[in-house]
Amino acid sequence: MNVVIIGSGIAGITLAEEIRKLAPAQPVTLLTRETHGYYSRPMLSHGFSRDDVETKIILRPFDALRQHGIEVRDGVDVIAVDRQRRAVSFRCGSANEHLEYTRLVFATGSDALIPRPFQSQTALFCVLNSLDDLIALRRLRADVLAEHRIPHWAIIGGGLIGCELASDLTKSGDQVTLFHALPRLMERQLQQEDSAALAALLADSGVGLRLDSAVQGFERSGNGYAVRLETGEEGGFDGIVAACGFKPRVDLAREAGLSVGRGILVDNYLATADPAVFAIGDVAECADGRIYAYVLPIRSQALWLAKRLCGQSEGPWTPPLFRPKAKVHGFTAVHPYLF
Ligand SMILES: Cc1cc2nc3c(=O)[nH]c(=O)nc-3n(C[C@H](O)[C@H](O)[C@H](O)COP(=O)(O)OP(=O)(O)OC[C@H]3O[C@@H](n4cnc5c(N)ncnc54)[C@H](O)[C@@H]3O)c2cc1C
Repeated sequence: MNVVIIGSGIAGITLAEEIRKLAPAQPVTLLTRETHGYYSRPMLSHGFSRDDVETKIILRPFDALRQHGIEVRDGVDVIAVDRQRRAVSFRCGSANEHLEYTRLVFATGSDALIPRPFQSQTALFCVLNSLDDLIALRRLRADVLAEHRIPHWAIIGGGLIGCELASDLTKSGDQVTLFHALPRLMERQLQQEDSAALAALLADSGVGLRLDSAVQGFERSGNGYAVRLETGEEGGFDGIVAACGFKPRVDLAREAGLSVGRGILVDNYLATADPAVFAIGDVAECADGRIYAYVLPIRSQALWLAKRLCGQSEGPWTPPLFRPKAKVHGFTAVHPYLF
């Protein structure tokens, strides 16, 4: 049996390592676009207040995984899945290669969600979804600092990532204006009272809060950027970061004829309608209609699926009890988080 895993985030890496532990002779191949190694995505939003983040964020170099017998093909882009032939095709440089599987696992994660009005303006803003994104933002910040100026950022979106990023940039000494379309911050995760406390904390730390402010688009303005609102333009930004949610990477699965909703549809055994194909992590839409896009339940999915693929099957996967938590410096919610 050859297990092929697409993706080297927490879902793919945890699965590969656990299979290796449970069944040392089981061939496991991991295909990934990444080249930096396996890194901590949660640490991205604390990527400015720590100087050593670009090295400390790497949890496992790919060579360390290879030394444990996991075949890692990094810097490759999986472009098609042929379920009849049970083979994936991937691009490696200018060459196309094929690999057969007996079990295939989509652990392809998610992109940053770009709202429709912004989709034609991607040259005018950044996102924070990968280590490459963080490196690009840190470079932009360093360029502004080299001109002896304090960077001024516009962050679009007052959800979990927008608030964490605003907090970390402010802690680093930058100026931040946070635009949120709704009247309160992190409305999906926090109860009203905690949203208000978070807004007060961010405002006290110097974040310019623009609640009820739906951004319509972006403009170049002098050497920087401006944000377009219904009420007019607000400019003077060195960089704009869109933090508007996440979008599971489902295209490959859809093109392979698998059912997708917001994510790839899986049953209680994390299997798609094709019993040879599974999905876990940010890309998997579970039988209860939920996407468990947090590290704790994703790790639980990967450990459970490893057992299943190694023939040590238990009952169906059930989500563990967990609470999301915002990594906003100095913030503790009084009420339980919503999920
Ligand atoms: C800034 C930020 C902060 C966060 N903070 C927290 C937090 O504090 N706590 C928490 O629980 N969660 C947090 N999250 C969410 C958490 O990080 C994600 O839920 C988790 O990382 C998802 O892991 P994954 O393995 O499913 O996907 P990903 O980490 O997205 O990995 C997907 C992998 O698939 C690869 N891939 C995709 N398509 C292809 C293809 N066609 N060919 C080859 N490779 C492909 C990608 O290169 C990548 O390696 C945060 C997320 C972000 C972005």
